[in-house]
Amino acid sequence: MSKKVLIDLNPVIQHPGTKLTFPFECEIETDDKSGFAIKEIAAGEIHAQSLNNALLISGRAQAICILDCARCAKELEMNVLIEIDEEFGVEGVPASYGTGQHAYVIDEQPYPLFKENSLSIADLLYQEFVVQMPAKPLCDEACEPSEVNIEAYNN
Ligand SMILES: [Zn+2]
Repeated sequence: MSKKVLIDLNPVIQHPGTKLTFPFECEIETDDKSGFAIKEIAAGEIHAQSLNNALLISGRAQAICILDCARCAKELEMNVLIEIDEEFGVEGVPASYGTGQHAYVIDEQPYPLFKENSLSIADLLYQEFVVQMPAKPLCDEACEPSEVNIEAYNN
């Protein structure tokens, strides 16, 4: 089974006022530029609610992340918890109003998170983990910078 999760939010978007919870398990792809890697999968849940012209996405996720120690550059594993709190615009007329029309999400981000009204959990989580990752993780509070890294550490 693919762990690349797309969540169809039409049950919320076409029914303003409805609030639904979607648990997920999801793989997140990272690369050298990400500054971290995710060991195995991220798990959590999102709550989605439509307020007619806005879609509210909240929730939380956690993943075992592989980071480089800010002092000695040794790899370390850290359980990182993130909070999700996003709002997207919605246009159109919800299907539940019976006009034969549909409401749809407006996703104007540089890296869209939606495919039609389905939210890509992997893309949302990647964005949230990048922003919320600890800035200076340490392998140990007592970690001393190694000779090689002293210059980088002092800058
Ligand atoms: Zn260290």
